[in-house]
Amino acid sequence: MPDRPAPPRTTAELDAMRAAGRVVAEIHERTAAAVRPGVTTAALDRIAREVIERRGARPNFLGYHGFPAAICASPNEIVVHGIPGRRRLREGDIISIDCGAIVDGWHADAAFTAPVGDVSPEAARLIEVTRQALLAGIAQMCDGKRLGDVGHAVQTVVEGAGFGVVQDYVGHGIGRRLHQPPDVPNEGRPGKGRRIRLGDTYALEPMVSAGATHTRELADGWSVVTGDGAWAAHWEHTVAVTEDGPEVLTQSALA
Ligand code: MG
Ligand code: MG
Repeated sequence: MPDRPAPPRTTAELDAMRAAGRVVAEIHERTAAAVRPGVTTAALDRIAREVIERRGARPNFLGYHGFPAAICASPNEIVVHGIPGRRRLREGDIISIDCGAIVDGWHADAAFTAPVGDVSPEAARLIEVTRQALLAGIAQMCDGKRLGDVGHAVQTVVEGAGFGVVQDYVGHGIGRRLHQPPDVPNEGRPGKGRRIRLGDTYALEPMVSAGATHTRELADGWSVVTGDGAWAAHWEHTVAVTEDGPEVLTQSALA
């Protein structure tokens, strides 16, 4: 059997995903508040685990293909999949935090990039352009649009700012599983690609490089870095397509 996209979500299913999304939003707000020079990425992971446990949710990153933490913590040139550990954030760094949660068997997944103390104007611009690219893509997630419209909107914001869309990594369908079809590319052509339907749920996640858009994996088997060491940012939301347009299920105070 081919791995087909899931059928549209029912109201009860969407309610479970909303609940999972609220857990993820709380993790974002709590970890973002803890980001400062000197904090370890392991400490940020502990915050996420506390929120998941207190809310009676389950982690979806921990144990995913053996991943050892509840969040991915990816500083500077690490695009995605950084493993939390003893590394201490330093003034001027940027840190991407990606996490998810499961409620009643339904998944949510979202990411943000934050400055650590004062950062360079270029680093701040990279963060903001990536956030704007996410919002531009979300605005296209309406019944009858196509995934090419979403990718085109993301790509236009990123390339218009002189940055590049990271290759080889894309967003995804989400629901009973963290990652399910279809892929949601961060580039595309208007009017092309899979048709977006009411009840669809997607994780849209622009990954943006200030330099090279090709990547390589570090020897830890997880961390993905830009090919030239340029810094990268990553923003993600889980979004449902409703009659009223796109509904962000992981809405937080950050985005
Ligand atoms: Mg994610
Ligand atoms: Mg994702």
